[in-house]
Amino acid sequence: MRWLLLALPLMISACTYLPGSRHLIVSNQQSLPEPTLHYLGVGGWLVHWKGEGVLLAPSFSNPGGLGIRGLPPLRVKANPQRIDALMPSARDVKMLLVGHAHYDHLLDVPRVMHIHTPKATVYGSQTVGHILHAGKVDARRIKVLVADEIANPYQPSRRGTWFYSNGQSAKDGTRPQGPTPGMIRAMPIHSEHAGHAFGINFIQGQYDHPLGTLPQSLFGWRLGEVTLAWLIDLLDENGKPVYRIHYQDSAATPPLGFPPLIADGKRIDVEILCAASWDQVHNYPAALLRITQPRTLVLGHWENFFASDPKKPARTIPLQGYKGLLKQMPHYTPVIPEPFSQVPLPPHE
Ligand SMILES: [Zn+2]
Repeated sequence: MRWLLLALPLMISACTYLPGSRHLIVSNQQSLPEPTLHYLGVGGWLVHWKGEGVLLAPSFSNPGGLGIRGLPPLRVKANPQRIDALMPSARDVKMLLVGHAHYDHLLDVPRVMHIHTPKATVYGSQTVGHILHAGKVDARRIKVLVADEIANPYQPSRRGTWFYSNGQSAKDGTRPQGPTPGMIRAMPIHSEHAGHAFGINFIQGQYDHPLGTLPQSLFGWRLGEVTLAWLIDLLDENGKPVYRIHYQDSAATPPLGFPPLIADGKRIDVEILCAASWDQVHNYPAALLRITQPRTLVLGHWENFFASDPKKPARTIPLQGYKGLLKQMPHYTPVIPEPFSQVPLPPHE
């Protein structure tokens, strides 16, 4: 029995693979001209646009159980040295979007807010807000989204709310007050977090009060009362979208996470999907892609993040295959970036 206990972590660790053996062709482009999608690993992305920036759920600490690669940790703690070493320059970031409160999407956000993105407001659920309170993030820099502000895929004609990088907001189809609402806007969409295994999400729940200290257990980073997908528009000087990005930070049962009808009718240019747990829900992402039909399809959250080594090529998530995922997207050749590489945006239309 003792040998089994010792052998199990090593067996799981051995179940991370180099992506080629999992049918994934990984891109590793560096030093591309902006604008690009800069992949930070896990659910983290950074986009610079016309002097501003948008950052999605940065995660660098990536602890592992007993420090063993591929083994989920039971206790989690941010690693400030690692965050500071790996976080690219993001001082222009005005919006930091967090889809749910699991540690691999939120653990590093307080440090990033304090040190790396001094101009950013973070957008997320009430639970995200309550946890960030314990991270000593200034309450004026936290925008908690309430139900009325979150687009609902079950009511596709109900107008969603755009949050602009200058802090204003407006229902889709209307313009915020003032001449310069900022160069970026984002719309939260009600989505779902797929199960981790056997269709079960092992870290559920929410917080109804601000926390005094950050959770130290994996299970303390509760999912939150809602999981959010996002529409993100990169705007021109007149407030017109140049690029429209749809982002899902976790696989979700259709139609959860689907974008609502948008008044301007602009198509979606880039779809960023979550590869992890794609097989825990049905028709992901085939159903979503029939709606969004992006020009560029990008897969994130594909790589092992349990005690991962950023200096080595990323390996896949333990026990996660991707052959079936690629079959769900027969009309696309998805871009699967190496962490800390860039993905070019498609040409202007
Ligand atoms: Zn995650």
